[in-house]
Amino acid sequence: MKHKIIRSIFALLALSLLLNAPRAQQNAPAAAKQSSDDRVALYQALLDLTNPWTVMCIAAHPDDEDGTSLIVMRRKYGAHTVSLFSTFGEGGQNAIGPELYQELGAIRVRETMAAAEIQGSEPYFMGMTDFGYSKSPDETFANWGHDLALSQMVLQIRKLRPSVIITNHSVTNNDHGHHQATARLVLEAFDAAADPKRFPDQLKNGVTAWQVQRLFVRVGRSNQAPAEAGSVVTIDPNERDPIRGVVYAEEALRALQKHATQGPWPKTFAEFTARFRSFSGQNAAPGQLPLIRYVLVREAKGADALSKVSHNFLEGLRPPAGVISLIASLKIKDRPLTEFIDERDTVLTSLLELRRSDTFSRIFREQSVSPAKCLRPPSTASPEITAALDLIWDHLNVALKEASGIKASLTAQNGGSVVGGEVEPFAIRIANNGSRPVKLEEVAFHYCVPVQLERGGPVVSKTLSPGQSITLPMPSLNWISALLVPKGIIWSSEVKLPIRFEKEAFTVEVSMDGTLASLPVNSQLTLLPDIEITNITPSTAVSTSGARDAKAVFSMQVKNNRSTPFNGRIAGYLDQELPGVSNNEVVLATTRVSLKPHETRQIKIGLPETEVKVTDGMDKTTLDIPYLAAFHAEEEAKSSPHWRYAGESSHVMVGAADAHIAPNLRIGYIRGFDYSLPDALASLRVESKELSVDEVKMSDLSRYTSIIVDNRVYESQPELIASNQKLLDFANAGGTLIVFYHKSNEWNPDLRRNRAQLAPYKLILGNERITDENALITFLEPQHPLLNFPNKIGPDDFKDWIQERGLYYPREWDPQFHALLQSNDPGEAPLKGGLLVADSGRGHYIYSSMVWYRQLRAGVPGAYRMLANMISYGHP
Ligand SMILES: [Zn+2]
Repeated sequence: MKHKIIRSIFALLALSLLLNAPRAQQNAPAAAKQSSDDRVALYQALLDLTNPWTVMCIAAHPDDEDGTSLIVMRRKYGAHTVSLFSTFGEGGQNAIGPELYQELGAIRVRETMAAAEIQGSEPYFMGMTDFGYSKSPDETFANWGHDLALSQMVLQIRKLRPSVIITNHSVTNNDHGHHQATARLVLEAFDAAADPKRFPDQLKNGVTAWQVQRLFVRVGRSNQAPAEAGSVVTIDPNERDPIRGVVYAEEALRALQKHATQGPWPKTFAEFTARFRSFSGQNAAPGQLPLIRYVLVREAKGADALSKVSHNFLEGLRPPAGVISLIASLKIKDRPLTEFIDERDTVLTSLLELRRSDTFSRIFREQSVSPAKCLRPPSTASPEITAALDLIWDHLNVALKEASGIKASLTAQNGGSVVGGEVEPFAIRIANNGSRPVKLEEVAFHYCVPVQLERGGPVVSKTLSPGQSITLPMPSLNWISALLVPKGIIWSSEVKLPIRFEKEAFTVEVSMDGTLASLPVNSQLTLLPDIEITNITPSTAVSTSGARDAKAVFSMQVKNNRSTPFNGRIAGYLDQELPGVSNNEVVLATTRVSLKPHETRQIKIGLPETEVKVTDGMDKTTLDIPYLAAFHAEEEAKSSPHWRYAGESSHVMVGAADAHIAPNLRIGYIRGFDYSLPDALASLRVESKELSVDEVKMSDLSRYTSIIVDNRVYESQPELIASNQKLLDFANAGGTLIVFYHKSNEWNPDLRRNRAQLAPYKLILGNERITDENALITFLEPQHPLLNFPNKIGPDDFKDWIQERGLYYPREWDPQFHALLQSNDPGEAPLKGGLLVADSGRGHYIYSSMVWYRQLRAGVPGAYRMLANMISYGHP
């Protein structure tokens, strides 16, 4: 379609398979009854058929897309909608689990796909790095590479051919640098995509220069009309979808909730609307959301006019001649097809007539668009006509599928998944839930590869009566990568490629009343690694003073996803570029493992903590520095004495820190989203216990010397707020209470949430961040005991930090607090609230907005030394 789609007709059934395997079932009575889901799907397919345009929403991160407008454009107007994301969002925080970085990126891609499913849109990714919060577009471009990012955006625009682009990001907003950079790229890409002199290497395999007609940028969320002069498009999120019976914004909320790692989201629509009302300047009626407004900021030369005030980004766009008559012919008795969704068979008759009609074949022949979609020759028509006809062709096939009642899906033996190395057999089930016999011709697989696979193989010939289904077993299909979605993301060095997003993995070719149709099937299977290593604990092991010769013992879950036994080993490797080591993968430890088919087992393996003696053929190197280790499952290759990988690797950080603690400490902690805190306490060899909120409420806290409230716990476990006085009493009685960073809206006193001041004295958070991980740290009270016992903290302890210094810095605090550290991003005012400490009764209170958990996970020695001082504070 957009690029050169190459197809292989899969030799669906060798005759023997046809004789042996298919199991046709007669379900009585004939299943002509339409479910309400089917009714909605048919409505949407028929509506889509009337709209030959694509609307693209460009966003920097997952959840930055304007789900409401995507939903309205698709559900109300039938536009083809796509979203394009600059990054996978892997640099963000994880509100539901311990995964960060690449693992988080893989989760966010899946969340985005789930959200897009509800929005009725398709997600695409440019694969730029999300390196965490950035304050400037220049810093962002320094990381992404401006030209690389622009070429990626231009390429996606040229392939997806949107007539309209919308974006939430504005070059005039002083927000996240990734947002500002994305906003700039959109403006540049609008012109560059249309200019064949820009990125000419892209112009092959059916990719052409592409002129977007209109570009819209969203203006503030307010019911006030914007002052700007350009045309304004207003989307009302409170409108009700007539066919689904829900308000569009309710669907948008449902999609937002799929971005679970970025939560917490409102649980109900009432909570959603209330959240908007609590912002200043919002003036929607109770139970309603403010209108969404966009201004037109660019349009193509000679673009069709848009009125000053509109409710549809596509308003006024005229389809190319020829396409108009085609769309006009989509009627039954001069009424739109959508009025006939309760007469499915009538609709099918009408669509088949259209498919056979002279108008149809003339248009598609004249425009060189072959009805056999994947075998289309390069189009000689203009890109505009080709794009419109491609969409109509796709939509017609979907409409034929919905009207025919044919259902097809992939099934795998292994719980809907396929395993990497050996690709287990799977099957395709095709059911006729419609009202007339359908003759199956073949099942066609197609995907985009640089090599054309010739069409071939035998063809199925089997008629399915209404109510009949057939299950066709598939032999090994290693090459059908389009059907298989890897569990993770394929990260390559240049640009990270996301998992494949082929819109249609395969089509079922049928004939109905003698008319051929290829029915697209959206069904993909998850591709699992053969042997999966998960839940490694600890995720980071740092040896601290006095424990230098120890081994770090890692416990992990090893799962055999195959239906055959696994006899091999788990090997721990040094996986890092190191001076003096020519091979950066050196085996540190191995352990033998045998697993039955589908067995999961917990295993342990020890790695040297700090001193790694590496023998690499030539020199013996002794390392006394933190290192990255990888665990691989391996088995002996049959024909050679070498070990080969059986699955993907999982990583841990092994480090060292000269960190001492006070004697006789007993730490209680309320854990946040990850395990960095318990792992770090274990590395410090201090007695510690995780506390549930109930334990805080019920148990005697005086047995602990210090208690830590981890990142954002007052948000993730809001029940703790009701027991907060117990924690403050613990400090008053002589304990040390330590609280790690919270967002300002999760912390500041808020009567509506029954949240009073959580600290013993006034402490109000703002939204300031220090995003430069190397920002200079100034010691405001260098002699303060918290910076001197048991470890003397100095500038070296703030070296080798990652991603950022701190978030949501306090903006106001009681004079009882001592501010110990000062820092700032380049060119910004200094922030002093990163580490605050106060006496509280006979004990102590510490609040730190610094991002300790990322440093602890990365094995940064200074973070271990500072954590040791915090838990030791007040306990000499
Ligand atoms: Zn964002």
